[in-house]
Amino acid sequence: MLTFFRRPFVLIILLIVLVASAFFFLSPDAAHSSVPPVQAENIITVKDTTDIKPVSETEPVSELPADAETILARKQVPILCYHQLRNWRPRDSEMAKTYIVEEEDFRSQIKMLADSGYHSILPDQLYDYLLHNKPLPEKPVMFTFDDTNLDHYTVAAPVLEEYGFKGVFFVMTVSLGRPNYMTNAQVKELSDAGHVIGSHTWDHQNVKKYTEADWPTQIEKPSRQLEEITGKPTEYFAYPFGLWNEAAIPELKKRNIKAAFQLATSRDTNEPLYTIRRIIASGYWSPKQLHKSMINSFQDGK
Ligand SMILES: [Zn+2]
Repeated sequence: MLTFFRRPFVLIILLIVLVASAFFFLSPDAAHSSVPPVQAENIITVKDTTDIKPVSETEPVSELPADAETILARKQVPILCYHQLRNWRPRDSEMAKTYIVEEEDFRSQIKMLADSGYHSILPDQLYDYLLHNKPLPEKPVMFTFDDTNLDHYTVAAPVLEEYGFKGVFFVMTVSLGRPNYMTNAQVKELSDAGHVIGSHTWDHQNVKKYTEADWPTQIEKPSRQLEEITGKPTEYFAYPFGLWNEAAIPELKKRNIKAAFQLATSRDTNEPLYTIRRIIASGYWSPKQLHKSMINSFQDGK
């Protein structure tokens, strides 16, 4: 027996067997062997073709607010705009389907972003990043929901929360409590859960057509109403139809709006904070098409 172990090649083989079994028993897979393996086809991940992490490593956090040129030079955070989240109906027009994302497609889009390592950010974080260069989490994205639809409460918020995300809900106050729209209590619940409630006017009129009398009706009163519901200041605004003009910006500033969101046209060169870009997440898009559009639309210089 002893002579058997004295043979060097036998000792080497024994050593290899010992090391290999140690690796097997200490590996995390072996330790969790009762957990079923994740089905690879259930994970949708996308690789970024460009680095969209917008944190500047050379420029420090600054107390002084950045000027327009500096803000425009920072990398844009992709911001998605959703409207209705429900299954398509036969009478929905081809155009309307752009604005209606089916529930399962919405879930797939959100899951893709979660699986791909995205982190949702909220308007205060975007504001601090744009104005003071405060760092953002890696792969930031913002989810926004316009028009007060009930499915923002029943579909959007639960799916976002399932994947650890928060959203921004732009409410038009005329709809509160109407059938298929959110109630005051539901808006309050979203706010209490850490989502942000912004203003989307009283009844969705085009900001470019406002007369002097419209500003109190469309901006001041809705802001106060939302503040009464949430107990928090109303500081962010989304333009109905994404439409804005230069004249609207000082009116919003006067009424304590810190930043305003449009759709995908170019930002104003003097007022980038009041013309923040968003893209409509189309009901026709697969998760990969959504991601491609995010990368394309939020490149530098737009
Ligand atoms: Zn709208």
